[in-house]
Amino acid sequence: MRAPIFPSAPTAVVSSKHRNKLRVVSNGDPVKTKATFTVAVAILAFAATTTRAQVPASSNPHLKSGVDRLYVIDCGDGSATDESRWTPGVNVGVPIGFPGHCYLIHHTQGWFLWDTGISDTVAKLPHHELVLHEWGPGTGPIWRKPITLAAQLEELHVKPSDIKLMAVSHSHPDHAGNVEMFPNTLMLVQRVEYEWAGSRQDTVAFNKKHPVKLIDGDYDIFGDGSLVLLSTPGHTPGHQSLLVKLPKTGAVILSGDVAHFQTSFDHRYVPSNNWNKQASLQSMDKIAAIMAKEHAQLWINHDQVQSDAQKKLPAYYE
Ligand SMILES: [Zn+2]
Ligand SMILES: [Zn+2]
Repeated sequence: MRAPIFPSAPTAVVSSKHRNKLRVVSNGDPVKTKATFTVAVAILAFAATTTRAQVPASSNPHLKSGVDRLYVIDCGDGSATDESRWTPGVNVGVPIGFPGHCYLIHHTQGWFLWDTGISDTVAKLPHHELVLHEWGPGTGPIWRKPITLAAQLEELHVKPSDIKLMAVSHSHPDHAGNVEMFPNTLMLVQRVEYEWAGSRQDTVAFNKKHPVKLIDGDYDIFGDGSLVLLSTPGHTPGHQSLLVKLPKTGAVILSGDVAHFQTSFDHRYVPSNNWNKQASLQSMDKIAAIMAKEHAQLWINHDQVQSDAQKKLPAYYE
């Protein structure tokens, strides 16, 4: 039995007869459906108005509890002079481009953000460009960010404060670069990642004042199976992925940096800077097993070919 995300939030149990008609929401916060039907009726009258004010109408008003939209957001554009940094021994010296993505997901209980991309401040730098020197001068990677995450959320009329829940796959700056754009959003992060972040130069230390729920292992976020955090250590000690179940698209795994490119996943390439090679391989196998079980697609955050084929905000997946 896991603890609710917001232990103090009002809860309600809806009888099976009514369950299909009711969407239990309170101020957009996740709420567990576990008390009495009487309580449910009381909060539903309130919830009906607040929900409409915050989020667009659900594309499927009959959806009882689950995800109804997923937006793929452009969250940076990376490049480097040598792909083999991620694919040791293969494509040595070959330049590589790798996009970065964030994903905004609408659940019947509110907005959820997965990963935050490289910092929006990069958009203000000359050429909207941040040149890193992780492997020596001139080696990159280079991150470009001509379009900010903030501007893309505005396009949807979603304010940072509308997003009540977020999670980052891990603490690298191209995933955790904008966490503090959402200072009041509860962040779900693996406990070991939270404690490890900031210990290496290439990680972002989390602001200890940021509201956080520390996770140990796999975690079904809303208890309905529609958004499940998957513990996938290896790239970093507390790396996690996200299983999303969409009503029309089906199951999708957002794999963070479990693998950087499709070829990396297919051939089990482990980048030389990963925290642990054996754990990295085990996590790729875990993802493959869940893909088979759930008939899930694998959406790799940095794969250029996949990205080119995907719909981007304001279009969305259902
Ligand atoms: Zn990473
Ligand atoms: Zn990354």
